[in-house]
Amino acid sequence: FFTAEMNQVALKRLRLEQDLRAAVETRQFELHYQPQLDSSDGRIVGVEALVRWRHPRDGLISPAEFIPVAEETGLILQLGEWVLDEACRQLRAWQDDGIRNVTMAVNLSAHQLHAPILLEQVATTLETHGLTGADLELEITESVAMHDPDASIRQLKALRDLGVRLSIDDFGTGYSSLSYLKRMPIDIIKIDKSFVREITSDPTDAAMVRAILQMASAFGMETVAEGVETPEQLVALRSLGIPAAQGYLLGRPGAR
Ligand code: C2E
Ligand code: MG
Ligand code: MG
Repeated sequence: FFTAEMNQVALKRLRLEQDLRAAVETRQFELHYQPQLDSSDGRIVGVEALVRWRHPRDGLISPAEFIPVAEETGLILQLGEWVLDEACRQLRAWQDDGIRNVTMAVNLSAHQLHAPILLEQVATTLETHGLTGADLELEITESVAMHDPDASIRQLKALRDLGVRLSIDDFGTGYSSLSYLKRMPIDIIKIDKSFVREITSDPTDAAMVRAILQMASAFGMETVAEGVETPEQLVALRSLGIPAAQGYLLGRPGAR
């Protein structure tokens, strides 16, 4: 019985991997965009591209389900290349429609960050779509940045030299070495939604957000709050002085 169950799990995983391989070949993916707003005046200052898999049989699959598998199999490199290109193509199209001063944020996985080809890929993609480095923001999670931090710092510096802005995603959920963080060429810290969730009810979460904000400004970094779902949370964040916010209250990720 136990073995049968294990076989089921292994089989499911194998099928997912096979499907994902086919999906990358035939491009069964789409990007949904979530706005980032200036918390004082509600202006849209950026959008984040979030990938979804349009599975021919199972419908829309969330990245939480397939990004880890894409990462383990190395398929993330091809998928990530498509995401970067598609996000830049879309930003260019918006710019051509007269939308200005909006940056495009793209998430990078561990594999991508450490791939030697990344720099060339970013530079070429920007050029192809007639964008500048300042149009693009690359997000890496705290745990990715802190895994082999010396290598991360080298790669991040090279990306920064292209003029690209860099952010640390889900900040507060991983293990950050502050001495490394200080040395990283990071422009933006994205405060994880777990701190925002209880900000109006749990004083320690409010204190945590305040502390992250102070640390970020001491390091010369900006902050964005993630996962803002209620007007009360937005008011609390604004009174703490968080300059930018993202969340269902302000806009759900949507297809273009
Ligand atoms: P993330 O980069 O931290 O993205 C934010 C996630 O929070 C998104 O989930 C978004 O839909 C969700 N979210 C936004 N506002 C709210 C809110 O108010 N409340 C709550 N509860 N959630 C909110 P999503 O789209 O499912 O993406 C999950 C994660 O998958 C992302 O987290 C990111 O780490 C990863 N991911 C998404 N797209 C890509 C990609 O193109 N490449 C890579 N490497 N990873 C990606
Ligand atoms: Mg992100
Ligand atoms: Mg996040």
